[in-house]
Amino acid sequence: MAEVPFWESKTLDEMSDAEWESLCDGCARCCLQKLEDSDTGEIYFTSIACRLLDCGSCRCTNYKNRQTEVPDCTMVRPITAEKLAWLPGSCAYKRLATGLPLPAWHPLITGDPDSVHDAAVSVKLWAIPEEGIKQIDYEEYVIDLESAEDEEPLFPHE
Ligand code: SF4
Ligand code: SF4
Repeated sequence: MAEVPFWESKTLDEMSDAEWESLCDGCARCCLQKLEDSDTGEIYFTSIACRLLDCGSCRCTNYKNRQTEVPDCTMVRPITAEKLAWLPGSCAYKRLATGLPLPAWHPLITGDPDSVHDAAVSVKLWAIPEEGIKQIDYEEYVIDLESAEDEEPLFPHE
């Protein structure tokens, strides 16, 4: 009988640190700058990347010290309602927390860490470094990640 994978047999709280980390698909969507509508609380993603993100590799350049370097960088664990509000719909943590399965392109399903890039879910190659962009101009870079969910291609700011 096939073994049930941990992401189907355990809750997020029950997972080991290694299992938790392996759920992160490496999309870096959570590393995009976000804007919040002060009236509605709605979160808008932009195509602007956190200054620590290497947009070419889609990796944080100082993951170990990220919270010291970037105080806004939020630890996803433990998951809370507030974090669920700003995580993208494709995020494995959000999907599992809301009862959805991992998507077909997830590296844990494909066995290939690049499948998140091949499926055009990651921000690799289109995210824009934040250097030189004034915060007052961030609104010009708003993108619609939710309508570009899962396998659909992204149409970021140009
Ligand atoms: S959005 Fe979720 S899956 Fe993607 S990098 Fe962030 S924590 Fe990992
Ligand atoms: S500090 Fe690193 S992990 Fe945190 S948002 Fe920036 S690039 Fe992403």
